[in-house]
Amino acid sequence: MAVKTPIYLDNAATTRCDPRVVEAMLPYFSEKFGNAGSRNHRFGWDAEDGIETAREQAAKLIGADAKEVIFTSGATESNNLAVKGAAEIYAKAPAGQQGRGHIITCTIEHKAVLDPCKRLQREGFDVTFLEPPADGVITAEMVRAAMRPDTILVSIMWANNEIGTINEVPEIGRLCHEKGVIFHTDGTQWVGKMPTDVERDCIDLLSWSGHKMYGPKGVGALYVRRRKPRVRLEALIDGGGQERGMRSGTQNVTGIVGFGKACELCMAEMEHDRERLLKLRRRLEDGLSGRMEVVQVNGHRDRRLPHISNISFGFVEGESLMMGIKEIACSSGSACTSASLEPSYVLKGLGVGDELAHSSLRLSFGRWTTEEEVDFAVESIAKAVEHLRKLSPLYDLYKEGVDLSTIEWQHH
Ligand code: PMP
Repeated sequence: MAVKTPIYLDNAATTRCDPRVVEAMLPYFSEKFGNAGSRNHRFGWDAEDGIETAREQAAKLIGADAKEVIFTSGATESNNLAVKGAAEIYAKAPAGQQGRGHIITCTIEHKAVLDPCKRLQREGFDVTFLEPPADGVITAEMVRAAMRPDTILVSIMWANNEIGTINEVPEIGRLCHEKGVIFHTDGTQWVGKMPTDVERDCIDLLSWSGHKMYGPKGVGALYVRRRKPRVRLEALIDGGGQERGMRSGTQNVTGIVGFGKACELCMAEMEHDRERLLKLRRRLEDGLSGRMEVVQVNGHRDRRLPHISNISFGFVEGESLMMGIKEIACSSGSACTSASLEPSYVLKGLGVGDELAHSSLRLSFGRWTTEEEVDFAVESIAKAVEHLRKLSPLYDLYKEGVDLSTIEWQHH
């Protein structure tokens, strides 16, 4: 069967909204258009009912109580609220002073955690940015070694969005509870794909997003633990006091209803989706490594999400590779910052060299990815790489058995 191109292998960037989610949202654009804050008429009650159902669906997906779920505009906001909101409340000294407390995070977090941490650093907090080992996994031992008597917050993502590696979250959670430190985890790529239980895993704050799990964009959630310990947060947005005062502003009712439905579907279909995604990932990785040499799958071999594969191809130039596979929608190992193409800070953080980081692809699968599409991707990438390597003098040398690291390059 011929596949329809371009094919979408960028589900870690965003997913298509499930048609069942769209259907659940529709009435809230029309007949149920009320403001959930309108407490004295049917329109308001309908909107509120929609939101409260969604809150239960969201809570169920992560093993929480509905009262512990705060709706936001997405994981960026959830991360900001968690990190800045907790730092402000648990600070050991008033604003404007140094020595406000110690925070632990890592260098390969999403920018939505890194940048709030850097801001806090400028505002008088000490921040430790843990550096991952080559396999990308942050362990509880690494966190334990960085702990100090004044540590107030640990923020370590559940799974990395570029390489899919899974950190030791339950172990880190237990460590934090033992030490009385608040633990936040960015679960954007994890929740909805993998079983999640905030009780079992000792999580105090958990961020996730609608558009990574077949829900709409512009809506996310933050789990905020209410007992053992009761976690408090300083709000970032003040106003009408919605979402228990932690996130003012008229709620995005349609988005929230869609978010809830997406959570419900993920809960019901997780096992099935997970098996399928894992098979697709293996098919891709085996397919590519069977077709060519000098391919490297980045991140831990096994401790990885089923839907993300990050692969480096030696002896090809990254931009040319992307140009050669125009029919495949995926991400490159470079982030376009300003005019220059900088290699991904995540790959660099693992010690992948600039050259290889440049010639890396992140391919990510979703609920509608088919085996035919994966086969098509393997074929296109293999052809593009073969073609580019034919033009590479370095590859010729490599084939002749020359150890490239011993070559003395002449500089003029
Ligand atoms: N954290 C992670 C790990 C992500 O992958 C993303 C999305 N790229 C975000 C946070 C930001 O999520 P949102 O788009 O919902 O703001």
